[in-house]
Amino acid sequence: MPELAEVETVREVLINWCKGKTIKSIECFYPLILENCTIDDLEKTLIGKKIDDIRRHGKHLIFDIGEYCLLSHLRMEGKYFLFNDDAYKSKHNHLAIHLDNNTVLCYNDTRKFGRFNLIKKTDLYTNSIISELGKEPFDTSYMELYEKAKNYSGTIKEFLLDQHIMAGLGNIYADEVCFASRLVPFVKAKTLSIDDCQNIVNSSIDVLNKAIKAGGSSVHSFSSGNGVDGRFQNELNVYGRENQKCKVCGNILTKTLIATRSTIYCPNCQVIHAKTPRIIGITGLIASGKSTILAILKKYDYKILDCDMIANQAYLDDEIIKKLISVFKTSDKLIIRDIVIRDANKLKELESIIHPYVINKIKNQIKDGNKYSIEASQLFESKLHKICDYTIMVVCDERIRQKRLRDRNPNDYYKYKNLNNNLTDGYKKVKLANYAINTTYGKDSIEEQIKNMFNNFL
Ligand SMILES: [Zn+2]
Repeated sequence: MPELAEVETVREVLINWCKGKTIKSIECFYPLILENCTIDDLEKTLIGKKIDDIRRHGKHLIFDIGEYCLLSHLRMEGKYFLFNDDAYKSKHNHLAIHLDNNTVLCYNDTRKFGRFNLIKKTDLYTNSIISELGKEPFDTSYMELYEKAKNYSGTIKEFLLDQHIMAGLGNIYADEVCFASRLVPFVKAKTLSIDDCQNIVNSSIDVLNKAIKAGGSSVHSFSSGNGVDGRFQNELNVYGRENQKCKVCGNILTKTLIATRSTIYCPNCQVIHAKTPRIIGITGLIASGKSTILAILKKYDYKILDCDMIANQAYLDDEIIKKLISVFKTSDKLIIRDIVIRDANKLKELESIIHPYVINKIKNQIKDGNKYSIEASQLFESKLHKICDYTIMVVCDERIRQKRLRDRNPNDYYKYKNLNNNLTDGYKKVKLANYAINTTYGKDSIEEQIKNMFNNFL
């Protein structure tokens, strides 16, 4: 079925064929394609008038003709042909519009599902089938979409297909948009977050623009006798690719039915979901494998915030420097570190200076609405976990961790070993965290655990 991109392709061809031409006469061979008007109405209002423009709204073509708009919906099989002679009188041509350059624009439809409506131009956006539709994705704001999603009872797939919500996506591009937004198509639309809606609008625009571009490039091969239905071989990621490999991850694509519509999706890639936490806090002992997890979360669009790095910046801040000097008589990080390693009270004082600085920086950063994973060895001690939607404790076999430490920095090994003698305390934190990831068995195993974690949000 032609969708917005195909309709746009048809529109571009029609512009070439008939924009600026005047209608000499109209013939209709199958009156049922005229939904709200008769052939008499068309003759009365359109003959002698110029086709000023051909526009698009979602899947509708809008012919601007004088005071009126002739709306054309191609439905399943609708096509347009242009003829120079009497050959236009063929079986499946249902409407023939004779133009003043002696060409005949024909609407052809083997299945007869397509429909025409005649609307007063002034009623187009106030009182017509167009005014009942949602905006095209190009004109939809994500907040608008979010407001509509909140009260929607159907699935995400149905939400995308619903032309009253957003006009233009059909079965093909709804699947493509779900894939591009990495959303699970059969989950309820009311669970969509603002982020998800932003993703949907951006992906819709992206997918449609690519499709229009692909269709546009094939328009040149249409000649007037070949007809134009706007179909083209597009580079699709999921639609029509059941049981084939996902182009992103290599997993096999799955088919399911949603409200009688076949739906193809990647069970591996499409795990990002509305309830996916926006801010994930990650903690664990030194060399427990936190950075591996951060790197994997990056693939899920989580930007990384490293508390150690932010804490380092604190030592350059004038206010912090003043406070450090008043407690430690110096603001030199290395000297202070040596002091606090030996003195638990001094360590507490240091933390009371540095932690608020770090938390403030992070609070300001996450205001931008992006997804973040925050690496913080002191996640719970600093109370940073309170601004996280979800927390992960990273654990691993102690021998592996010790080996990583030695490999990382042989000289510093004993110093750090000492720093981490509160091992049992460290593992108590597992109980505080929402999820534990064990990094003992390497990257594949970690990826599997993260995938399972996201599946838990479904
Ligand atoms: Zn995939």
